[in-house]
Amino acid sequence: MFSETKSLGPAWVKEFLLRQESFWDVNDTGMGSWIWRKLLKLRPVARHFIRMEIHNSQTVRFWTDIWHPLGRLIDITGAVGTQKLGVQRSTRVFEVWDGINWNFRRCRDRQLCNMIQQIEQHHLDFDLSTPDVVLWKNSSSDYREWFSAVDTWHLIRHTRPTQEWSKVIWFPQGVPRFSFITWLAVKNRLSTGDRMRTWGHTQGCIFCGEPNETRDHLFFACPYTFTVWIEVVGTLLGRDPDPYWENTLDHLTHHRFDFLTSILIRLVFQVTIYMVWRERNDRKHMKNPRQASQLAKVIDKPVRNRITSTKYTQKPRLRGLLQLWFTAHM
Ligand SMILES: [Zn+2]
Repeated sequence: MFSETKSLGPAWVKEFLLRQESFWDVNDTGMGSWIWRKLLKLRPVARHFIRMEIHNSQTVRFWTDIWHPLGRLIDITGAVGTQKLGVQRSTRVFEVWDGINWNFRRCRDRQLCNMIQQIEQHHLDFDLSTPDVVLWKNSSSDYREWFSAVDTWHLIRHTRPTQEWSKVIWFPQGVPRFSFITWLAVKNRLSTGDRMRTWGHTQGCIFCGEPNETRDHLFFACPYTFTVWIEVVGTLLGRDPDPYWENTLDHLTHHRFDFLTSILIRLVFQVTIYMVWRERNDRKHMKNPRQASQLAKVIDKPVRNRITSTKYTQKPRLRGLLQLWFTAHM
């Protein structure tokens, strides 16, 4: 059903239900069997588990299939993108790509230019003799040519209700944007170099040059980020900082910190992850690099702001919060 070379469904599905449309694009018209309509409803979930690998580029639809790390391109530009690039919605990749160059209409739209740049930088293994294939996600970073119900189930049930580490992420004094990025880091969902490799990109550590950029390297096995972490965490851990991700997360999850320390340690952990990730992205976009001590100052500020906004002076349980922050950094 997803590829035209290896059809999974009966021919009439393509003939009468899909017609010329992509599975991702077809409207639910009320036609078809119960299971067909269930499948249509499950598209938002399925989207995360499938991608197309381009070889002869004959079957993959440029706009509506998932073949680029950005996701479905039509979701980025909206329908207007088809006019701006001069590429129709139903166009297959081979109609705009000759194996070397992409043929788009010139455009000045910044968002589109950005997207084109990313398309051009995305490496494709052009091979006329090999059909395009559908890949199924079998683990958090691995795609294969076969579908495994068990693996998919394990990936879906990832949203288990209680995780021990969840208290490191969500707490009343937390700040949503810092919590969220930390949640992504804990789930290893940040698009670090190792995760992009399955897409054909290679990305080393932008701070130290280590060839394999992983979540564990960034937080905080990298000499640069570890220097930052040592500086910002001060004495809050109650022991020397550890460069290993698992050890840090384990300590934050299981160590019995006193109440005020437990607030500060989670806050500084989250702000550090956020700012390291931002610094990493800034450097990728050619912004001036910050030294470790500068980044430590950038981290200190939102932590102090959050301490102030808790109105700690008026709340007996929080009294001493700022004092503790200072003491930990003497
Ligand atoms: Zn590094």
